[in-house]
Amino acid sequence: MTGMSGEIRRHYWLPTPNPETGAFARHAFRGRRWESQPADTTVCGRDVAMAKPSEVDWCTAPTCLECNGILIREQRGERPR
Ligand SMILES: [Zn+2]
Repeated sequence: MTGMSGEIRRHYWLPTPNPETGAFARHAFRGRRWESQPADTTVCGRDVAMAKPSEVDWCTAPTCLECNGILIREQRGERPR
């Protein structure tokens, strides 16, 4: 068992509207959870407004593939085989 040596990069997902189209997409954000801040920057580098998503938003918003790809690459980097 090792201690807390490496930096653990936590993230969470939240559906947010695209500032141009208003269409919701589920982006990843740095941190443990949404702290009700009104805006933040996604893992894929977009500045978005945040609001409490409805259940419909959770169900219908597609996962952002850019955020997903970035997180997968980071996880690979942290755990070399
Ligand atoms: Zn994204």
